[in-house]
Amino acid sequence: MKPNSMINSTLISQLASLIGQANVLHGHETEKWQSDWTGQYHSTPLAVVRPATTNEVASILNFANTHGLPVVPISGNTGLSGGTACNNSLVLSLERMNRIRSLSPSTRIAVVEAGVIVGELDNAARQHDLMFPLSFGGTGSALIGGVLSTNAGGSNVVHYGSTRDLCLGLEAVMPDGRILDLMQALPKNNSGFDLKDLFIGAEGQIGVITAATFKLYPHPKTYATALVAIDDPGIAPALLNALQDASDGAVIAYEYMCEKFVQHYHSLHPEEKRIFDFSSPCILIELASSSCTSLSKILQDVLAGAMEDDMVRDAIIAQSETQRKNLWLLREAAAEISFHKHPVVDTDIAVPLDQVATYLRLIPSRMKELDSHYTDIAVAHLGDGNIHYTVWPSRDDESLLQAMRIAIDDQAVALGGTFSAEHGIGLCKLQSMEKHKNCVALEIMRSIKNALDPNNILNPGKTIPK
Ligand SMILES: Cc1cc2nc3c(=O)[nH]c(=O)nc-3n(C[C@H](O)[C@H](O)[C@H](O)COP(=O)(O)OP(=O)(O)OC[C@H]3O[C@@H](n4cnc5c(N)ncnc54)[C@H](O)[C@@H]3O)c2cc1C
Repeated sequence: MKPNSMINSTLISQLASLIGQANVLHGHETEKWQSDWTGQYHSTPLAVVRPATTNEVASILNFANTHGLPVVPISGNTGLSGGTACNNSLVLSLERMNRIRSLSPSTRIAVVEAGVIVGELDNAARQHDLMFPLSFGGTGSALIGGVLSTNAGGSNVVHYGSTRDLCLGLEAVMPDGRILDLMQALPKNNSGFDLKDLFIGAEGQIGVITAATFKLYPHPKTYATALVAIDDPGIAPALLNALQDASDGAVIAYEYMCEKFVQHYHSLHPEEKRIFDFSSPCILIELASSSCTSLSKILQDVLAGAMEDDMVRDAIIAQSETQRKNLWLLREAAAEISFHKHPVVDTDIAVPLDQVATYLRLIPSRMKELDSHYTDIAVAHLGDGNIHYTVWPSRDDESLLQAMRIAIDDQAVALGGTFSAEHGIGLCKLQSMEKHKNCVALEIMRSIKNALDPNNILNPGKTIPK
């Protein structure tokens, strides 16, 4: 059956018979899903289905598979790579699957459904002096299914790892409606292929994630947070090592912001008091511990030494929780700043830590060759070598934008890095995927996709180039 011919009352009533009329939306009711957070992708879905249970997801996928109906799973719709574009597809929204099934303080394990908001899981953990350490600007809207499907990273990866590292088990529904239960909460399980890892970062290509088990961590009792001005990002590895050595590995965030980024923040947020007046790039450093009480002293001592060695020019150490939060407001405005102007090329490359300075030095001249009037900013999860380099071209010309994306990705790969460190491939990085991903790896991905989703109903046309 052709999708367009199906969008009629028959389709709606068939879907309604599976999950109830109120949970099948069509026409203007689907507005919320018609564009993504970036505002760059606009779509007209056939309908939106909002299942509340794993069995309902299974019956929808079984129905879609039988009728060859494309399905786009959508969680918080905050992804930054076009993965939720949904023209002529059925949107499967996970937002009603929002139960924390259990949270055990003694084993420090949470069992959650895919539609739980990331920040809400953290709030629930905090009631037991625990935390869910995934931290980025979108955690108030992104859902568990989405962060698993993009293997989201963020600011605390340097200490806690990315979503993959936090996940112990998951439940997913296969394209034909079979339910795969891998929900064990075991740190060790060597019973054959680790299928869980196949679904993490798969961007909805091979199944719909419906639930997961996660590790929780003790909530830090003390933080020491500083914003330091530097002249040369080349000092990053040495300063990070000095901080880690002195604090016994307590660095939980190490974030770079270029000078222009800070200026954009203040022009977008004139109401925010200038708590510093740096005219140079800076690094936001955070140390945390649930036992050590002398973190501030450690941070101060290391920064004093770094100043003597001319690695650091100036520094502000947060003296209160309010000051600490204000420093984080600055860093977490990154996505807002990147997308406040259009057209925009937003990227998430990564290079080895000792190549970050080289990358930041080389890439502007590459952009200038393509567009002499471009403007840019760079923000980085510096501890991971993961740079968000944002370019605003001087004209809205898709071929120019594409040339910029390719040049940014090529430069990262040339320095031993990757074109995609945390946002996934979606639609916007298909070309780099084709160009740079190992061709055997691509063949294996295609084989897995064909084997598990032979009718190509799940998120077709994304992530894996044709
Ligand atoms: C302000 C802001 C800051 C951000 N900062 C960071 C950052 O620092 N680090 C970082 O890694 N990312 C960051 N992101 C992007 C981040 O990847 C996404 O926000 C998040 O991971 C996606 O979650 P979501 O619930 O919105 O997923 P969605 O956008 O709904 O979906 C993302 C992809 O996963 C698929 N998918 C969704 N749910 C499921 C499911 N249950 N089963 C199978 N497939 C599914 C979708 O089809 C799509 O391909 C940021 C985004 C914003 C808006």
